[in-house]
Amino acid sequence: MIKRQTTINRIFRLSGIGLHTGRTVTLEFLPRREFGIAFVNNGQLIPARYDMVADTRLSTQIAAGGASVATIEHLMAAFYYSGITNCLVYIDGPEVPIMDGSAWEFYHEIWRAGVYEFPEPGVYLQVTRPVEVRHNDAWVRIKPLNTLDITMTIEFRPPVGKQRKRVMDVENAVSIINSRTFVLHEEIEAIRKAGLAKGGSLDNAVVIGGESIVNPQGLRYKKELVNHKILDLIGDLYTCGYRLLGKVEAHKTGHYLNNLLLREIFSDPENYAIY
Ligand SMILES: [Zn+2]
Repeated sequence: MIKRQTTINRIFRLSGIGLHTGRTVTLEFLPRREFGIAFVNNGQLIPARYDMVADTRLSTQIAAGGASVATIEHLMAAFYYSGITNCLVYIDGPEVPIMDGSAWEFYHEIWRAGVYEFPEPGVYLQVTRPVEVRHNDAWVRIKPLNTLDITMTIEFRPPVGKQRKRVMDVENAVSIINSRTFVLHEEIEAIRKAGLAKGGSLDNAVVIGGESIVNPQGLRYKKELVNHKILDLIGDLYTCGYRLLGKVEAHKTGHYLNNLLLREIFSDPENYAIY
């Protein structure tokens, strides 16, 4: 468990394909003295914070001053898992590259750069009373607890069905980092028609066909799909700006509800404490 603010130990770069634009994007990671993770696109600083989130339909997108960065959630989860609280990420395109569809490569590169620790504390946010948000039959709630404990349930048509997973030791659950994004085969055409997912392929997503997984190598884990939903949740929740502590229970949640939960927590200072 980290105790103080941290940043990366050296500058590094990483390139990959944007899932929706299909274009190559390069990220440059810089150590940062100031608290928090922030992106810089076209000279515009955009804090990776819940109140900068502008779109949650296909990914979590942040925006400020006419610039935006989409699909930040897997990278944010990698920062969470690496214990990094402060970093500047320069980006030369509108979305974070999809890499292999998981957070693995981001995590690996941050780990290779190493972690530098500052003396300042103030990296934890603990909820002090229950907070819950709902939308249709989906919901996510958090209750006070001095660790982060996540239970996630997803429900899709077969072959996915209903999957449930509880992760009590989130900071050390490395199988979450490795779990890839997924899409139902019948959804692909609609997404493509909307001019999106130009960079999508079996190299960066699990595709669920009529009866089975389309990817020739199958799944990385039996519960890879629910694992990935937990990865998205961790990345989204890290936009609170702190390492969140609490018992989280989520049912069919997504980027919209994950962001709404943070807005609800911050709507009342009685809901949380920072230390
Ligand atoms: Zn995802």
